[in-house]
Amino acid sequence: MAGYRYKRVLLKLSGEALMGDAGYGIDPRILDFLSAQIKQVVAGGVEVAIVVGGGNIFRGVAASAKGMDRAQADYIGMLATVMNALALQDTLESHGVFTRVMSAIEMKDVAEPYIRRRAIRHLEKGRTVIFAAGTGNPYFTTDTTAALRALEIHAECIMKATKVDGVYDADPMQVPDARKFDELAYIDVLNLGLKVMDNTAISLAMDNDLPIIVFNMEKEGNITAALLGESVGTIVRGGS
Ligand code: UDP
Repeated sequence: MAGYRYKRVLLKLSGEALMGDAGYGIDPRILDFLSAQIKQVVAGGVEVAIVVGGGNIFRGVAASAKGMDRAQADYIGMLATVMNALALQDTLESHGVFTRVMSAIEMKDVAEPYIRRRAIRHLEKGRTVIFAAGTGNPYFTTDTTAALRALEIHAECIMKATKVDGVYDADPMQVPDARKFDELAYIDVLNLGLKVMDNTAISLAMDNDLPIIVFNMEKEGNITAALLGESVGTIVRGGS
């Protein structure tokens, strides 16, 4: 555990994080890059659970805006996360990281069913667990899944991977003097409407004192640095 501050963490990877610049689907180079970073911390003894999104393939709310039944669209979105989970598992294993995919929608031929105590056992044995199919319920997101699963498995923090260095008071791509927060209170994220994770996920984290580290996943070594307790990105926790 060479200096790591956290023993068990939950990494949230959005579907968009996996598509790179392609605009759709999965970029194998991104999976490869992320797998190498994950391998580093797993080799250091950190237990890593991952929730993957599906927005690179299908987003329920967007389809329902075009007329599809929302619940039906959300089930398609959940299935999209399973594809991402299987792709990530393949790359992690090619890097020598033992993994298990656990799906909230039963799909025995491709993934284990999600059983909380079994997930914890996998982690204890040093296996990386990828949670697929979100919560298994429509009208939720994989951000909320990340908060829920993190609490269920007693993870000490959520690592929210993004493409920017943390949380800003305005879009740093549009506003050159946008200010970055090193630390933020949950309630400020909600009140200021900051785009960290959706409100259900933030509320769940707030009610249970679960810290969220928002960091730039594109910078090599950032996952390790964050878990070593270095100031990487923005940490959301506590009161202001
Ligand atoms: N989804 C759902 N229930 C869940 C998690 C996800 O219905 O518990 C569906 C929802 O349609 C969502 C899609 O799966 O749009 C993909 O997940 P999300 O949008 O959270 O992916 P991300 O933005 O992280 O890529």
